[in-house]
Amino acid sequence: MHRTSFESRKSHDPPTPLSRTTLATCRTRGAQALLLVSAITPTTHLNSDQARYLLCDRLNIPPPPPIVNGPPYHCHPDCKTDRKSRLACPHGYHQTMCPKFWLTSVRHNEWLHFLKLTLQKWMGYSCIEGNYLHHSADTCKKVDLLIHALDRPDDHPVMADPTFICVQSKAYLPRASRDLPKLLKSREVDKDDKHGPGCRGIEREFVPMVLTVQGSAAPCFWAWWDKAWLRALHRHVATGGTSQDVSVARHQALAALQAVAVRCTTIALLRLQTDPNHPAGRP
Ligand SMILES: [Zn+2]
Repeated sequence: MHRTSFESRKSHDPPTPLSRTTLATCRTRGAQALLLVSAITPTTHLNSDQARYLLCDRLNIPPPPPIVNGPPYHCHPDCKTDRKSRLACPHGYHQTMCPKFWLTSVRHNEWLHFLKLTLQKWMGYSCIEGNYLHHSADTCKKVDLLIHALDRPDDHPVMADPTFICVQSKAYLPRASRDLPKLLKSREVDKDDKHGPGCRGIEREFVPMVLTVQGSAAPCFWAWWDKAWLRALHRHVATGGTSQDVSVARHQALAALQAVAVRCTTIALLRLQTDPNHPAGRP
């Protein structure tokens, strides 16, 4: 019923590039994880501002104050990108990608750290995270995570490098609204061009992890994620566990990874428009 009326409305009132992109990213695998979570735990918990941000982002409406104040909807007064292009950002898309105060790095690192904890706990992988994982001695290119199965010494270790993108931001919107899967694929190819040959040259696999702020991800992430959870299943069942335990853990882990992104993004939005010393804006 809802689907029928949605389809008929779409022909009378065609979606804008922004609404088309939001629909596409919310339909991409992974974006639903936190909304479908079966239990609210400390790792999936959101405060009220974070929950408002999550829902407004889904509904394509500007988040209410204090998440986004305005008008004039500017980023931090010191933000050079904002001053240059005079952004009006009622939805906060610019702020979700704004590097000021290293907010995007905080989100990236917290997400990576939770992923590492999950891989150690459920897959028994040995993981090293850090900014010193150079794959080539003669270049300064480096990746963020090294994953190794110590019980399978013949398998090549995996090097992974996550990147978050906001597909509704000015830089991506035109391409995302035309063909989101193509955009995600091209970002994977860019990352593979940068790191893949160096990693494979030293007998390591490379996994480009292209993630969206909504929690969806590009296909290479999922191919690797599914394989990693198959290993978790074999390990858990071999020690007397059930496949249901692993299914629940797998879903909770994905929801928790999304919650990390939502929490850090909301903190970024708040901090970029409040006094940097204000407690609400402190990461
Ligand atoms: Zn900014």
